[in-house]
Amino acid sequence: MYDFERDKIIEASNEIISSSMTVGSWGNISMRTDDGNIVITPSGKNYKKLKKEDLVVTDINGNVISGKFKPSSERLMHYEIYKKRNDVNAIVHTHASYSSILSVINEDLPVITEDVAMILGHVKVAKYAITGSMDLALNVASALDNSNAAIMANHGAVAVGSDMERAYTAAQVLEKSCKIFVFSKIIGKLNVIPEDDVKRLYEISEAYLSQWKQWD
Ligand SMILES: [Zn+2]
Repeated sequence: MYDFERDKIIEASNEIISSSMTVGSWGNISMRTDDGNIVITPSGKNYKKLKKEDLVVTDINGNVISGKFKPSSERLMHYEIYKKRNDVNAIVHTHASYSSILSVINEDLPVITEDVAMILGHVKVAKYAITGSMDLALNVASALDNSNAAIMANHGAVAVGSDMERAYTAAQVLEKSCKIFVFSKIIGKLNVIPEDDVKRLYEISEAYLSQWKQWD
């Protein structure tokens, strides 16, 4: 059951490992199915060995429907995001290096490049709370109010989308943009895109994304 979602999650898991956006079993990925259930990566399983039958199916309140492993220990964050954002059907949480630098210095990512405007919007830092807690889940869901990504203070990053391609693309754009932000701050002054242009860029992003799909 849920073969489509399982394939997409395994594909994204392989991508976050091969692109060094996370290591070992850190980070987690989920999708919301058409009937409102959640397919999510299991707790503590190394991504390199992850198979689609290892994924866990739960309802949006965390009741396990099927799976031989426990769902991700950070599952509450996924549920709270899906409850808050009806437009989100895929979530990618990583411990990527440059996103983690912003999480440590506790700085939002301003709209510094056009892809940030089109894919992410202004990215906020969600207030720190310990991993797996409901406080963290609520802080992250709150930071995702008007954006497709959030930095998690002293932890990592989360990216969302209406499908897995968009969520994964948001995770990639976030990490690349945090790298640009870090180096720009080291070298000189940051120039951000004017607010009116940010709005225009966001409006045309749907057309842009449909041309830009890399998968399938
Ligand atoms: Zn984490």
